[in-house]
Amino acid sequence: MPFTPRLLRRPVTRHTKAALLASAVSVCLIAASAPAPAVPLGVGDRLFPHLGNPGYDVKSYDLDFTYPGSNRKPLEAVTTIDALTTAPLALINLDFAHGKVRSVEVDGRPADFASAGEDLVVRPEQPLPEGVPVRITLRHTSDPVYTGDEEGGWVRTSDGLAMANQADAAHLVFPCNDHPSDKAMFTIRVTAPDGYTAVANGVPAGTDRAPGTTTWTYRTEHPMATELAQVSIDRSTVVRRTGPDGLPLRDVVPTKDRDRLERWLKKTPAQIEWMESKVGGYPFETYGVLIADAQTGFELETQTLSLFERELFVRPEYPEWYVDSIMVHELAHQWFGDSVSPRTWSDLWLNEGHATWYEALYSEETAGRPLQARMKAAYGASDRWRAVGGPPAAPKPPKAGQKISIFRANVYDGAALFLYALRQEIGRSAFERLERTWVGMHRDGVASTADFEELASLIAGRDLGDFFHAWLYEERTPPMPGHPEWKSEAARR
Ligand SMILES: [Zn+2]
Repeated sequence: MPFTPRLLRRPVTRHTKAALLASAVSVCLIAASAPAPAVPLGVGDRLFPHLGNPGYDVKSYDLDFTYPGSNRKPLEAVTTIDALTTAPLALINLDFAHGKVRSVEVDGRPADFASAGEDLVVRPEQPLPEGVPVRITLRHTSDPVYTGDEEGGWVRTSDGLAMANQADAAHLVFPCNDHPSDKAMFTIRVTAPDGYTAVANGVPAGTDRAPGTTTWTYRTEHPMATELAQVSIDRSTVVRRTGPDGLPLRDVVPTKDRDRLERWLKKTPAQIEWMESKVGGYPFETYGVLIADAQTGFELETQTLSLFERELFVRPEYPEWYVDSIMVHELAHQWFGDSVSPRTWSDLWLNEGHATWYEALYSEETAGRPLQARMKAAYGASDRWRAVGGPPAAPKPPKAGQKISIFRANVYDGAALFLYALRQEIGRSAFERLERTWVGMHRDGVASTADFEELASLIAGRDLGDFFHAWLYEERTPPMPGHPEWKSEAARR
């Protein structure tokens, strides 16, 4: 093999980031004589090369939206970004690709700006040195109407809006450093006409009433990736209850469905207790489900407030165990994907594999649906999934115009299958210790496939490098430990 497995297994790329920082530095040097060109930059994500930006670390976002009372008109918005420079910067690249920018200030001084690809490139009056705080204030619109092939961002409900930014759509809503490796604190403020209720990630931090409008403010108590931001503006009701250890829960549901949805909403406390029994304490300040009257075709683990399609809960053909398992899937993401964010989008399997794992385990323990049968079926399909989507930790890039097409079976049941193989390989007790330790040590952080391998090896007391490599980076699914008789469907033919 022409690469060392170790290099191949590290999808990114402090090196790539360093190279990009170096190019940002050279841009800065040129700026002394001639204006630097505005070009889109990225943090070197293999799947989304222009996502994120080098040269700074965002500490907090303050998002201020004014909803006009129609989900077909742009919202007026003010986004304030507090960041720390990590390199000298003549230009500050932000991700922002949808909406009109009215003005930009850097540290209170007007700044020029230009679009370049999906970046908004800001030129402060003076180049910024490395290691200084900077505040960027942008007045802009945030447009919920998409005419091109954009996916995600604002989701229009029957009479309002919700948000679905994963993987790369937060920058259709607000200017940001749109990569999960740069988490930050969020304050979200929404002004809406009477009759609407606005809810966002985190906990309430005040409500101001004015004639005809109300302004709601929410604040996160933990850092969050831009892809996990949630803002619901709708004719909705907030249903409150208390979860394990006094955890405040709040669900956001269409007011007309409040009573019929209660049979589902009341399940959350026991589901949280179950997850806590598996991996330890719930990682955030609150939780709840946002049930949106919209056709999304997916559910999404937005931090502290998971987004669900109303249809999942009201269509009679979905069995109860299935709906339960989807609720647990999004809940499990609060630990796996939200509290512990992927370092790059190639680490997506860490999110989806774990969420699928707990979804399946919950079905086994509460609905008598054996995990082993599901994993045997997954084993049969795994080679086919790898052919379509790539191995779990080296997924194929999204199709053009279908960026969420990285969410393929290879990173769901295909990655849960790897976790099953790992449990077979190192034993149930080591596996359970690994899971708890993982979410504990990377809480509120960012972690990669290599980090998971390192911890697994440490806990197993032996180098699992070859095992991880074969399962996560190879075209063919390796033999299942303990089940040599399991065969892939392709091989059987
Ligand atoms: Zn998921």
